[in-house]
Amino acid sequence: MEGKYANIIIDISHEKVDRPFQYVIPPELRSGLEVGTCVAVPFGAGNHLRKGYVIEITDRAEFAPEKLKSIAYAEEKDVTAQDNYIRLAAWMKEQYGSTMIAALKTVLPAKQKIKKVEKKVCELLLTKENAKAFLEECRAKKQVAKARVLDELIKESEIPVPILTGKLHVSMKTLESLEKQGALRITIESSYRNPVEFMANKEDVRNESYGTKKELSEEQRFVCGDIMSSYDAGIRTTCLIHGITGSGKTEVYLKLIEEIVRRGKQAIVLIPEIALTYQTVLRFYKCFGSRVSVMNSTLSKGEKYDQCERAKKKEIDVIIGPRSALFTPFPDLGLIIIDEEHESTYKSEVMPKYHARETAIKIASMHGAFVVLGSATPSLESYNRAKKGEYKLYELKKRQAGGELPTVYTVDLREELKGGNRSIFSRRLHGLIGGRLEAGEQTILFLNRRGYAGFISCRACGHVMKCPHCDVSLSEHRNGKLVCHYCGHEEPSVKLCPSCGSKYILGFRAGTQQIEEVLHREFPAARVLRMDADTTRTKDSYEEILSGFANGEADILVGTQMIVKGHDFPDVTLVGILAADLSLHVNDYRAGERTFQLLTQAAGRAGRSGKPGEVVIQTYDPEHYSIVHAASQDYQSFYEEEMFYRDILHYPPASHMMAVLIASSGEETGLELAKVIGELVREKRKAADDGTNVIGPAPASVGRVNDIYRYMLYIKNAEYYKLVEIKNMLETYIGERKKREELKTETVQFDFDP
Ligand code: ADP
Ligand code: ZN
Ligand code: ZN
Repeated sequence: MEGKYANIIIDISHEKVDRPFQYVIPPELRSGLEVGTCVAVPFGAGNHLRKGYVIEITDRAEFAPEKLKSIAYAEEKDVTAQDNYIRLAAWMKEQYGSTMIAALKTVLPAKQKIKKVEKKVCELLLTKENAKAFLEECRAKKQVAKARVLDELIKESEIPVPILTGKLHVSMKTLESLEKQGALRITIESSYRNPVEFMANKEDVRNESYGTKKELSEEQRFVCGDIMSSYDAGIRTTCLIHGITGSGKTEVYLKLIEEIVRRGKQAIVLIPEIALTYQTVLRFYKCFGSRVSVMNSTLSKGEKYDQCERAKKKEIDVIIGPRSALFTPFPDLGLIIIDEEHESTYKSEVMPKYHARETAIKIASMHGAFVVLGSATPSLESYNRAKKGEYKLYELKKRQAGGELPTVYTVDLREELKGGNRSIFSRRLHGLIGGRLEAGEQTILFLNRRGYAGFISCRACGHVMKCPHCDVSLSEHRNGKLVCHYCGHEEPSVKLCPSCGSKYILGFRAGTQQIEEVLHREFPAARVLRMDADTTRTKDSYEEILSGFANGEADILVGTQMIVKGHDFPDVTLVGILAADLSLHVNDYRAGERTFQLLTQAAGRAGRSGKPGEVVIQTYDPEHYSIVHAASQDYQSFYEEEMFYRDILHYPPASHMMAVLIASSGEETGLELAKVIGELVREKRKAADDGTNVIGPAPASVGRVNDIYRYMLYIKNAEYYKLVEIKNMLETYIGERKKREELKTETVQFDFDP
């Protein structure tokens, strides 16, 4: 590209630096430089070299050219970002609110080239949190060498062994001892890194119970045929496949990808959770062999880099991974599939808080590709768009292998209490578990603990304390008050149930470990596996537990929501849902939707291969519409009832909502700023009279983190772009006050349709 000057985003996370800086392109770089090239430039008073990304090349100098500094050098060409990824980052910054550098870093997953030489490396196996806890343990035991290693590995999850033994003076013995304790792994990085290579030798690849490629049913054939003929006619509309659990959606994905690959294109398959990788890769590997790969956070940097290279060189056709796999640089991307599209993990929790669905649609449009969303319980957003005709809706109504949907029993726990049963298990569930053990069939017990946030409910009548303005449950605070995290409404905590006068009104506590103990006591012969945050500390533990259960090494699997998503265990005929209510009273407007989804998905694990399945839902609130419709597996009725409430309260997708998080080291200054921002928006929008609705400020649900005080504002408008306008206005306002040094520690973050 020709041009004398380059506009560059500097790799420093600070609002003041978050704009392009102009540099002269020295003559020797003129021919090689492109938009997206990673360069080193002198920056700041000391002229230290900093990394940056070229986002524009131009002949127009913005200042007197003699005042401009020159680019020092360019990184190797093959590590540069492509032009369209820069555009994607700019789109993300605009849509979701973030700094440009944060957006760039999100879309450029593997920008670092890792040399392919053989070397020994130490790789952290624990999650960061667990590693920190372990580090504290070592410190307490005065194991200083171990502590040093852990400290380094927490900062950098992979470190060459020579650095640890050299610079840090740690002995090989220490490293080996840590390896024995399961904290790290010492590996030899080979020249060719393929994370699915091991599949070739896996017994499971030949195991029939994982399903081989099937002759498609008429329903499945229709969906594939229709989608592909639209594609061949040049139509790129997003498709939503609403297929009940076990209706063979995965089989449809496989067929679509086969067709896309035949047309010389590549595909990205998003899954909601790393725990699903093994099972998914297994099924895809059977169809596509080593043309499939994975991309996720369990890969080493080198492995990630290699997968990007293989994708660019078209050595692979399909990549499987969580939302970040969207940024795999395929040159001829044809299709993006988002499985279990309703899952909340598709929304990023860090800036930019992008949603994989919208981002996938954006990426697809840049490539002439299209997006297929699939779910048994579509998000209200997607189903709403399908109904409006923005997406094309397909339905799969038959179970492929399992015949009928399971029989569902709803057990009213208030009645159990009246009948004198205080056990975790209702009498019905207890009886059915016993029956399964005798019959040699498997059971899943699901403890619904999602997003549990200290709501207060009555054990005798099921009454839950709710905000009178927002229809979400109030959370109990340490000061004894009940607080609404949308509008800030507060009321004193209660001793007696306002509805029935019972004194059994309190918070809810139950854990998977406790369930496991009760099982051992009441069914001593049962073989039990437990899957939760504790038992999945290391990277491979998901796989071990899941394949152990699939291979019949246990009778009962106990777990949190990580066990209900998309798994296909053919021998499971009973599912017990132990606390259906926990997710119902999360202080979030999506609580009803999440509960319906979780219960439907959990119920869908039962009876998937011919043997009839049964499901027991234990609840204090059996009349709640989420529970009623989940029990009858009736998505349509649920959708209509839930949309009715969203309409009334202007929650998404009936309207759009932007959450503004104001954080400050000062309790007063933070609240003050939140109030000022609220007034500013109220004032501006009153003039525009466009139906903008501002709620709050209120303390965030986690009101203080590391001595930073956090406040929330919620702003609603039917039009997304109006919220973007408000975001832009606030960014400018905050930017100016920062320039005048009126704001120091304060930060403002945006979250669209939270
Ligand atoms: P979903 O993803 O919709 O929950 P899956 O794709 O996992 O459903 O399919 C459920 C079960 O049905 C799997 O065991 C799968 O092998 C089987 N299956 C899917 N399609 C067919 C088919 N056309 N013929 C026979 N069995 C099928
Ligand atoms: Zn009561
Ligand atoms: Zn409220």
